[in-house]
Amino acid sequence: MRPFLVCDFDGTVCLADVGDRFFEHFVPRERHREWAALIEAYDTGRMGSREVMEKECAMVRLTLGDALAFADGFRAEPSFASLVAACRAKDVGLAVVSDGLDVYIRRILDNAGLPGVPVLANRAVFRGDVLRPEFPWAGRGCGRCGNCKGGHVEELKAAYSPVVMIGDAHSDVCGALAADRVFAREILSALMKDRGCPTEHYDDFDDVARALGLQGEVRA
Ligand SMILES: [Mg+2]
Ligand SMILES: [Zn+2]
Repeated sequence: MRPFLVCDFDGTVCLADVGDRFFEHFVPRERHREWAALIEAYDTGRMGSREVMEKECAMVRLTLGDALAFADGFRAEPSFASLVAACRAKDVGLAVVSDGLDVYIRRILDNAGLPGVPVLANRAVFRGDVLRPEFPWAGRGCGRCGNCKGGHVEELKAAYSPVVMIGDAHSDVCGALAADRVFAREILSALMKDRGCPTEHYDDFDDVARALGLQGEVRA
């Protein structure tokens, strides 16, 4: 079977956590303390990501244009484009799977010249300056994530092998527990270690391509 790479976005394809920066930027100053408490509740496992996202979106007022202009301030990791090219050349599946919002992910990938990369994320729906999140992938997986990566990995395993999770933090744990192989940055690697599951360290996507044997001739 063909391999499949499930790639987290925030802190992974983009080294910045664009989702966090997004709400940090658009949540009004006087509500920052309230917002920080939500993030804390998520990081300590007291609140699932779907509930956090709904509360965050209710705190902000911005238009689609504002969201796109904000996303234009971020860049995808340069080595991600090489990984995408290597996967295409070797017929390896790849998708960005995120528990963040599609609006900034899609924009940053478009800006990187990667409009063809599939994105499975929560949907940002704008009505004037009201942002409402939709959760097209809800109801699968653990039930606490807005978009559980574990649910996606389990489904992919029926058609692909190995299914590889590449991530950095809390939102990747469900996916990492289900995956055949996991590439992790520090937070995810510690979270998985706590669960007795070893991960492979990576600094950039060239490390992942090398470890998976995807490097070599890549056709343009
Ligand atoms: Mg992340
Ligand atoms: Zn989950």
